[in-house]
Amino acid sequence: MSFREFISRLKKTGTLVEIQRPVSPKFEASRIAKQTKAPILFQDIAGSKVLLNLLGSREELATMLKVPKAEIISKLSKVAPKGEVKLVSASPTLEVVEEEVDLTKLPILTHFEKDGGPYITAGIVVSEYEGVSNASIHRLMLLGKDRLAARLVPPRHTYLLHKKAAEKGEKLPVAIVLGCAPTIIYASSTRVPAGKEFEYAAALRGSPVELFECENGIKVPHSEIVLEGYIEPEERVDEGPFVDITGTYDRIRKEPVIRITRIIHRKDPIYHGILPAGPEHLLMMGVPYEPRIFRAVGEVTQVKNVVLSQGGCCYLHAIVQIEKQTEGDGKNAIMAAFAAHTSLKHVVVVDEDIDIFDPNDVEFAIATRVKGDKDLLIISNVRGSSLDPRGASDGTTTKLGIDATKVLAEKENFKRAKIPK
Ligand code: MN
Repeated sequence: MSFREFISRLKKTGTLVEIQRPVSPKFEASRIAKQTKAPILFQDIAGSKVLLNLLGSREELATMLKVPKAEIISKLSKVAPKGEVKLVSASPTLEVVEEEVDLTKLPILTHFEKDGGPYITAGIVVSEYEGVSNASIHRLMLLGKDRLAARLVPPRHTYLLHKKAAEKGEKLPVAIVLGCAPTIIYASSTRVPAGKEFEYAAALRGSPVELFECENGIKVPHSEIVLEGYIEPEERVDEGPFVDITGTYDRIRKEPVIRITRIIHRKDPIYHGILPAGPEHLLMMGVPYEPRIFRAVGEVTQVKNVVLSQGGCCYLHAIVQIEKQTEGDGKNAIMAAFAAHTSLKHVVVVDEDIDIFDPNDVEFAIATRVKGDKDLLIISNVRGSSLDPRGASDGTTTKLGIDATKVLAEKENFKRAKIPK
């Protein structure tokens, strides 16, 4: 399913919100997206079409993976990054070629009050150096007509490739992809081995991913807009502030500069943006960790499902559902979950009769199945998430696991009453 096919699908199911009137790229679009929560197609932001909240809920993820919502994680935990990638020579992305670069003509949004500037938030940065390639989403701050500041987080793949090139005084060729098949957007948010993102996307959707070559040699998938260029080896500029998943500001940092040399796009392209701290941002950050937790807990007991809940920024809180086999399984599940996702701060383990997507049902489990001195596991001074405002300056935090599973020997006491048909 291409970007456009996915949007038509959302339209058909009545999920898509369309806004015809002109909307400002500064604050207005992000304000509307924050209130709306559903996928929104803006027809006119500075004269361009813009799509926000594309993969903003688990329903859209389920549509993308062609499975029911409850089976997303079990499907994701089974797929290996081993699909087919095909090189092709033609692409609809080449419908319009702009040699005269002017990024200010794109509908790049300014999202929050103290943001350092307009930011590209859904750009997949594809790079390649000495035969090793990578594709990942980076926040990109607009600096001028042909310049962007890129936040490259160490020691992720783009950071490493740029470092390698810069050590030899060379610039790193990149192509920034905006608006491609949702499976590719999702795959680019995961941490598969270097260069395996497109193979992973192909495996997820069960059909080959086609790539075509840009002028600078970078191979990209068909998409709405591609910005071709390179990352300068030495230059550093102020990047930020910018809002991260917790909805608080990340500080100004010295980051590298991308110079754009050519823009190619479809006729009447649809620009894709991700609202910082919005549901799509949270899901893209968190969902890739759910299959990792699922597999790790599966090593210690019978795991049923895992969710990184939205109230925990889809990153800091996990609800793990198990089918308890022996007393103590809950605590083992807690330890496995913390090991699988080092940024995890609090985890609640529940039984198979609890709806993990319903915060009230999870609270019910805590209310009726927990004894404070028996069922909590507290671990001090462990590595936490740099995104947690309550974390220590040395990167450590305290982790808390809650075993909200039934006591096996007293199982009958916990049975929820049913009304017969
Ligand atoms: Mn990578």
